Amino acid sequence: MNHYDVIILGAGGAGMFCASRAGKRGLSVLVLDHSKKLGQKILISGGGRCNFTNLGASPNNYYSSNPHFCKSALARYSPWEFIELVNKYEIAFHEKKLGQQFCDGSAQNIVDLLLAECDEAGVEISLETRFSNISLINGDENKRFQIETNRGNATCRSLVVATGGLSIPKIGATGIGYEIAKQFGLKIIPTRAALDGFTLSNDDARKFGDLAGVAVDTITSVNDKSFRENILFTHAGLSGPATLQASLHWNDGDEVKFNLVPEQNALDWFLTRKKAGNKTLVKNLLSELIPSRLAERFMEILFAPNDPIHSMPLAQVPDQPLKDLSEMLHSWTIVPAGTVGYNKAEVTRGGVDTDELSSKTMESKKVPGLFFIGEVVDVTGWLGGYNFQWAWASASACASSL
Ligand SMILES: Cc1cc2nc3c(=O)[nH]c(=O)nc-3n(C[C@H](O)[C@H](O)[C@H](O)COP(=O)(O)OP(=O)(O)OC[C@H]3O[C@@H](n4cnc5c(N)ncnc54)[C@H](O)[C@@H]3O)c2cc1C
Repeated sequence: MNHYDVIILGAGGAGMFCASRAGKRGLSVLVLDHSKKLGQKILISGGGRCNFTNLGASPNNYYSSNPHFCKSALARYSPWEFIELVNKYEIAFHEKKLGQQFCDGSAQNIVDLLLAECDEAGVEISLETRFSNISLINGDENKRFQIETNRGNATCRSLVVATGGLSIPKIGATGIGYEIAKQFGLKIIPTRAALDGFTLSNDDARKFGDLAGVAVDTITSVNDKSFRENILFTHAGLSGPATLQASLHWNDGDEVKFNLVPEQNALDWFLTRKKAGNKTLVKNLLSELIPSRLAERFMEILFAPNDPIHSMPLAQVPDQPLKDLSEMLHSWTIVPAGTVGYNKAEVTRGGVDTDELSSKTMESKKVPGLFFIGEVVDVTGWLGGYNFQWAWASASACASSL
């Protein structure tokens, strides 16, 4: 190893993209990663098809202690620019829903794209490389940092930390980026697993713990955010896209509310049928609105075993129990016990405090030449391609100022 203009720590999406763009500007670039394989998180993303961007990506789709921080980078690198690159490599892709762009074939296409861009830019990539010590070299603007690794030492003018968050440690995620930030005196916003499933309280686990596999279309709300997507009951608690979205905005003790019949007013639906003399049991009618296993469970929870509603035709059921049932359908509320954790979570919320960084360049305000990009920064996207768009945009902002 030797001296480079730029050393990038982490060969994930942000690191490789930044490397290729810096290399194309004529800079010498070395990327270091402890993994055996490049872009492991890309490979498992989007169910193996990588949801590589979202056409609707805007600052509103990101969670951060400073919601304004991501504006500049996102504005300067649009989803269309990444799509142009995808087209350059003739990668077939499609929109699944809500602006989400997926590869038709495999996420490997995106790793190959990044690698080809790095090759074209003359970037060196060193895998299975562990860095042990990073130190500042005082007094030389061109040689500011020294990195000690198991493969020798290297120096550089600019050091870019792109080591991601804590999610999925088994494919190489570590908190090294936070440690480096702390070493140089930068503040960290506390981290937590996000875009993750919820675990249930003991009480809810007793009531709903055996419904694994049941999926329901919902509007799921937490704090001031709502998501119109599915939830899925699992052995661990709740998952599915709406749950994952809600977890990003959830803090311990917050309620999560589910409208399980988002398309219509359940009470009107029951009363119209009651007025028409419908003789079906409520439980069976309820199964037309929500999956039958959940319908049965709600009937058991709301009404005692000897309640006549269990055997009464709808036409004879008083309005009040129908009101109670409808209220439960439109605002079923839980207080999750927690989230499942980093072994399953798609991202890490929190990270390097954006107050420490320039929003134009991602450079540390305290330590010239030190940059943080991608998921290690306290900017976390919703589910749906927003996190990769942040990886590309923050990498691009950084690369153009190296
Ligand atoms: C299951 C799953 C599915 C996802 N699907 C999507 C999706 O479809 N769309 C989307 O937008 N986002 C998705 N995400 C989120 C997205 O993958 C990440 O936000 C994004 O990859 C972050 O990129 P990054 O380059 O900042 O970090 P990473 O991709 O995590 O890269 C960090 C790199 O640093 C290396 N590293 C870490 N610690 C060390 C160390 N101590 N020494 C040396 N190297 C180290 C790692 O090996 C890794 O290569 C998904 C995440 C998961 C877990």
